[in-house]
Amino acid sequence: MSYQMIVLVKQVPDTQNITAQAMKEDGTVNRSALPAIYNPEDLNALEEALKIKEKYGGKITVITMGPPNAAEVLRQSLYRGADEVVLLSDRKFAGADTLATSYVLAKAIKKTGDFDLIFCGRQAIDGDTAQVGPQTAEKLKINQITFVDKILSIKDKELTVERSIEGGYEVVKSSFPLLLTITDESNIPRPPAVKKVLTYKNAVSPLELDNYDDEYLSNQNNNPSNLKIQHWTHESIDAKTVQCGLSGSPTKVKKIESVILEAPEIKNIANSDEGIKTLLKELTDEHIIG
Ligand SMILES: Cc1cc2nc3c(=O)[nH]c(=O)nc-3n(C[C@H](O)[C@H](O)[C@H](O)COP(=O)(O)OP(=O)(O)OC[C@H]3O[C@@H](n4cnc5c(N)ncnc54)[C@H](O)[C@@H]3O)c2cc1C
Repeated sequence: MSYQMIVLVKQVPDTQNITAQAMKEDGTVNRSALPAIYNPEDLNALEEALKIKEKYGGKITVITMGPPNAAEVLRQSLYRGADEVVLLSDRKFAGADTLATSYVLAKAIKKTGDFDLIFCGRQAIDGDTAQVGPQTAEKLKINQITFVDKILSIKDKELTVERSIEGGYEVVKSSFPLLLTITDESNIPRPPAVKKVLTYKNAVSPLELDNYDDEYLSNQNNNPSNLKIQHWTHESIDAKTVQCGLSGSPTKVKKIESVILEAPEIKNIANSDEGIKTLLKELTDEHIIG
């Protein structure tokens, strides 16, 4: 039995590489000052879908909502084995909170047709809410299992997983259609495959086409791989503009405060037996070890 799978992925600013210029004066994130990367746990989500496709067959559609340059995470998905990729990009989507984001994603998923499994990352490293997956499942009125560490088995249209809970894990079973949010404990995501990089390195979304010259455009008409990234707007997915972007977002940011974490007291330990002895004594006295 083969499976129709959707993977939701987000392009995020690399919060591991924050510099002083990463925040604007008004306290919002200066996205242009940070490298944009594939949300790490979304790579884990894609990897789970790829493993299922390899074992049982099926199709993987990767969807992202974001600005035109979010097409990069879709290229990265094609390099790893996604079959179809969709960029949801529209001025009407700007300023979306998690409710408006999940509304648009759910509408797009419905447009793709029948599906068995939806994979999300557990959490995005910028927004950090972990709400988008569960809200999308609610809007689609399907089952969801969050914090999935391991897929234990799949039998016909039923799946058993291990999900992490405080202090341990639980085993949960569900029928399809089903949305899973995947943690970084689940797998080590594969790197891009060289053959696929060669096939899709020139894949662009229609929104990126202005960057290319006439020669490129005429060439790409001959190569379907280059036209692989579909672009959908609110009209393509029949979304109500009042439920999209800022107008569909009840969350209001009241105040943003920059928290500066001061370095605690620093002690230099001499690189000698005596220095190590002193350190061990201090750690034991303070009941940190021992
Ligand atoms: C008032 C308000 C205005 C905002 N305006 C903007 C804005 O203008 N631009 C902006 O970038 N952000 C904006 N945000 C942030 C935005 O709401 C969140 O980034 C977004 O809803 C996702 O939430 P999250 O980052 O917490 O994702 P999480 O809920 O932590 O993500 C969980 C998983 O859901 C999936 N997912 C999340 N987001 C997407 C996506 N966009 N496409 C596909 N899959 C996804 C991924 O699988 C991800 O791992 C705004 C937030 C608020 C409250």
